[in-house]
Amino acid sequence: MALGIPTTRTDHALTVRELLAAGHRSFSFEFMPPRTEVGESKLWDAIRRVEALDPNFVCMTYGAGGSSRGRTVDLVGRIATETTLTPVAHLTAVDHSIAELRNIIGQYADQGVRNVLAVRGDPPGDPSGEWVRHPEGVTYAYELVELIRGIGDFCVGVAAFPLMHPRSDNWDDDIRHFVAKCRAGADYAITQMFFEPEDYLRLRDRVAAAGCEVPIIPEIMPVTNARQLERFPELSGSPFPPELERRLRAVADDPAALRAVGIEHATAMGERLLAEGAPGLHFITLNHSTATLEIYQNLGLHQR
Ligand code: FAD
Repeated sequence: MALGIPTTRTDHALTVRELLAAGHRSFSFEFMPPRTEVGESKLWDAIRRVEALDPNFVCMTYGAGGSSRGRTVDLVGRIATETTLTPVAHLTAVDHSIAELRNIIGQYADQGVRNVLAVRGDPPGDPSGEWVRHPEGVTYAYELVELIRGIGDFCVGVAAFPLMHPRSDNWDDDIRHFVAKCRAGADYAITQMFFEPEDYLRLRDRVAAAGCEVPIIPEIMPVTNARQLERFPELSGSPFPPELERRLRAVADDPAALRAVGIEHATAMGERLLAEGAPGLHFITLNHSTATLEIYQNLGLHQR
């Protein structure tokens, strides 16, 4: 099923901005800081498997609070210094003063990390709860983008929502705020997970119609177990298309068959999105990598 997609081998000196500006498609993987030593060892197994594929970058998420935040900074530093991968460090505005945010960005600069994904973050505990700004912090992601760009020559990514940000009341405001965030200095965006390619295409068209050319990279997240049947739509605000839902539920008691349907759907989505000109694909691994690697190989991307 190889697509023969023109890509480039990673030049690790390139930022995501430079890579996309050169017309290359970007293929990337996302990890999160683990909570335990066993989790850390699994994470490194997954990182090493992904490293062999020479992706354009790998992301490390940033927790809503607590010690995992320090682990993100440490892990990003280790990826930068101990692997051949280009790390993108996620950063959120939750519970941080501007001074603290500057300090974290400074630590990335010290480690030679030039790529940061700036998201506002959700309130810890209840993601849909009231957003409370740190008294000396920022309120919206565009302010975080401005802050990072003001500190140095960072390449900054932002979040995009194929079904509108859950806090937005209407598309016009949502797109206006997204475009303002891009104009504040974002180089590219990565979407929330979604399961219907048309949702991505509609968002891309709306952003383009608003005069914004920032590349939007679709996120791919395969359903691989029955728990995710409830969890993913709830997490993402993106329902499964009825046909996918029907196929997944029909095999909900058969883990191997469920995983196969999830991978088949994610592969088909990846093919369609690339055929429609998406600037790349971003794979969520949940630190396991095996399902995403299967999709990557189904798409012929391992032949880069
Ligand atoms: P914003 O762009 O600030 O938007 C938030 C809301 O405010 C939107 O409704 C927007 O329309 C509105 N808005 C924006 N500007 C204005 C304005 N000037 N006036 C009025 N309203 C405005 N969370 C984590 O905790 N850690 C992570 O590592 C992480 N990584 C993520 C990666 C990706 C690719 C994605 C898609 C999400 C990620 N998240 C992460 C989740 C993310 O933090 C939440 O989805 C959050 O709600 C996203 O906010 P934002 O960055 O889009 O915020």
